[in-house]
Amino acid sequence: MGLDAGGVGVTREAISAAPVPARLDDWERRVLGDPNLLGDISFAVGGPFHVLYPPRVGRNIQGFHEAFAQAGIDGVVYYGKKANKSAAVVRACAEHGAGVDVSSVGELTAALAQGVRGAELMVTGPAKSDDLLWLATRHGALLAVDDLDELERLAALDDSTAPVRIMLRVLPAASASRFGMTEAELDRALAAFDGRASIRLEGFSFHLSGYDAVARAELAGDLIARCLHARTLGQPATTLSIGGGFGVDYVPAAAWAEFTEHVDRQWFHSGKSFESYYPYHFPAPGPAMLAAILDHDGLAQRLRDNAIRLAIEPGRALLAHAGFTAFRVQGSKIRHVDGAPYHLLTVDGTSLSLSEQWFDSEYLPDPLLWPTRPGSTTPTSVGAATCLDSDMLSWRRIPLPRAAVVGDLLIYPNTAGYQMDSNESAFHELPIPPKVLLHDAPGDRLRWTLDG
Ligand SMILES: *Cc1c(COP(=O)(O)O)cnc(C)c1O
Repeated sequence: MGLDAGGVGVTREAISAAPVPARLDDWERRVLGDPNLLGDISFAVGGPFHVLYPPRVGRNIQGFHEAFAQAGIDGVVYYGKKANKSAAVVRACAEHGAGVDVSSVGELTAALAQGVRGAELMVTGPAKSDDLLWLATRHGALLAVDDLDELERLAALDDSTAPVRIMLRVLPAASASRFGMTEAELDRALAAFDGRASIRLEGFSFHLSGYDAVARAELAGDLIARCLHARTLGQPATTLSIGGGFGVDYVPAAAWAEFTEHVDRQWFHSGKSFESYYPYHFPAPGPAMLAAILDHDGLAQRLRDNAIRLAIEPGRALLAHAGFTAFRVQGSKIRHVDGAPYHLLTVDGTSLSLSEQWFDSEYLPDPLLWPTRPGSTTPTSVGAATCLDSDMLSWRRIPLPRAAVVGDLLIYPNTAGYQMDSNESAFHELPIPPKVLLHDAPGDRLRWTLDG
């Protein structure tokens, strides 16, 4: 079935979204270029699947370590584990000298099981369960305390031989966040330590929304004085954690500008429109953003002068370019808008495996059609295999390089950070897609195993 427009209405170009081609890593090009690998995995799995390439996680960790080294400061990376549940990611942290930031007993035990040591764990989150506090304390983890009551509950545990290691999470001035402690609460917390050998204040932490390097640098700079004050009260106060929120550069600047400047509901199935999009183009991602923070107003020098170690908690940026998600096309219809035809696909999974679709927005890096075959550009929207009209993987009409047919794979790139599994459930009793790990093998080959 071709797409020869019968109508006299608008052109195929006018109803197609501007392309948003994703940046691809070498390993991804190798996978896409392999004539068999993806088809074999798809055949074995028999449904949608996620792919992870753990060496890329290792390189991302290394990038942050290098930014610390170049600034000449003592730094530590804690992976924000909620960004992906994969065991292999946590294993890569253990292998590359990164700790893990957890907020549930499940996350804590999963990290321990992959070789992350208790002392390499940071425990964050609002009022934590007694079980989590107890277990974290037993394993010597660093706890980011979010309120005074939590501090009381920690003090009451008091059954450990070593002091409980804590940081106090700070509510930034003028922030409306529900997390963190006000100035007055921080003062009361410090007063509560007086004479309590069972609690050891290692420093202060925060986590800001958004991706502003300057805001992070300035708040870190302000908190140096808090550390110095805590030291006068006999606490070590040697660590500042500036949280996560390091950007990822999904797509090049020009394509991003083209899309965002011209986006129009005429590009979308059923005339759908969205108020905002995640910033998929980010000029100074991950380690470059850390370098900018350390560079701002001499922050690195001030940390050095005051013997303060900087901790970061990247989630998304630690997973940049480390994974993608593959769906199999299982149906294809032709629909028309103003007389111009487009394809409406059904794939074998759901938008629960592409979380952005659940935040009243759209995941914009374009999916790739595999295998590559000749054909002509075909505007294509992508629906899920469920009975919800709203369950769409791509509302916009993506200009795919050819018409997709049943059995093709649609590869959504760069999904490891949050997209893959934060929202997944067995809706419709469809199986949750497995995670496939890729390994380098002799002869420039890639082999695969299942995660877990
Ligand atoms: C979610 C979270 C992170 C990770 O955030 P990213 O934006 O993925 O880097 C780090 N720290 C805390 C406290 C968080 O809640």
